[in-house]
Amino acid sequence: MTVDVLRRPLRDLRVSVTDRCNFRCVYCMPKEVFGKDHAFLPHSQVLSFEEIARLVRIFVGLGVRKVRLTGGEPLVRRDLERLVAMLAPLDVDLTLTTNGSLLAPKARALADAGLKRVTVSLDSLDDETFRRMNDVGFPVQRVLDGIAAADAAGLAPIKVNMVVRRGINETSVLPMARAFRGTGHILRFIEYMDVGTSNGWRLDDVVSAREIVAAIDRVFPLEPQGPAYRGEVAGRYRYRDGAGEIGVISSVTQPFCADCTRARLSADGSLYTCLFATEGRDLRPLLRGGAGDEELREAIESVWTARADRYSELRSADTAGLKKIEMSFIGG
Ligand code: SAM
Ligand code: SF4
Ligand code: SF4
Repeated sequence: MTVDVLRRPLRDLRVSVTDRCNFRCVYCMPKEVFGKDHAFLPHSQVLSFEEIARLVRIFVGLGVRKVRLTGGEPLVRRDLERLVAMLAPLDVDLTLTTNGSLLAPKARALADAGLKRVTVSLDSLDDETFRRMNDVGFPVQRVLDGIAAADAAGLAPIKVNMVVRRGINETSVLPMARAFRGTGHILRFIEYMDVGTSNGWRLDDVVSAREIVAAIDRVFPLEPQGPAYRGEVAGRYRYRDGAGEIGVISSVTQPFCADCTRARLSADGSLYTCLFATEGRDLRPLLRGGAGDEELREAIESVWTARADRYSELRSADTAGLKKIEMSFIGG
């Protein structure tokens, strides 16, 4: 096990461009913790687009082939399309994960700058449930408008991520499946995870991927599909009637640490090798202290080759209370 873990290649990079967000999703940035007094990163500590682009180029030199811009909410960072344009010439699959709230006015500029696809988070089509989950009363229609604008701009196929939390939105699973079948968009159900320490996670709140697949299969028969590539985190199923596919991300009930090829860069320039890490390696002093690319490359490589993360495989009811970094900080 340990040997395999150490040999995992570095293929996939998530870049958080901000720790801020205009939502307060109950499973990610609960208001009690992320209220008016919450200390977000000061501007001076947030990496500039130039600094991010330099680091991403170095990561690409180390084997990264997928780059996902995330946050916090990436579209609250002004002129994000400028960063997209800087990254677009690289030989990577460049994507963005967003809550969709600002996507309608931005989709065209992002596509023109070279963005290839987007993933939009959407937890319910029921307006009341959605407003309760984002906890700022944001209407679902504006996210749907964002998805339509992204589609029109060619940012497709669009993935739609739904976090399922028991007692809150599991009744939205079937309506979501029904609505996105046949649209070409790929709906992905995510097991509610114990990221960070602020969402009060309990194992009982997790609706398992198996339950979700069974509930959909009863109404719209499904068949499993093989992974599109090694290390793909979503289990894929296709509708037997040809109306497209869904994905399930079973990080709680069926962990996939042995295949995890993903690194995360926080908005202030720390490198994390696991979603559940307690500490990152701060690259900003090197970046701002005059280090050359080779020195940065060595720093990243030494962190990656030393990693032996497999949090999800070790998770138990007791691990919920451990100190961990927040999802909104390193981008999911
Ligand atoms: N703000 C953007 C968004 O919501 O898409 C990007 C950042 S968000 C942290 C990235 C993804 O993490 C979203 O799809 C969100 O639903 C997911 N997420 C956040 N907290 C989660 C949790 N506790 N369990 C599972 N997924 C979670
Ligand atoms: Fe914001 Fe995304 Fe977290 Fe929701 S999931 S609070 S939209 S960062
Ligand atoms: Fe990767 Fe850590 Fe998630 Fe395991 S728990 S799949 S090592 S990010």
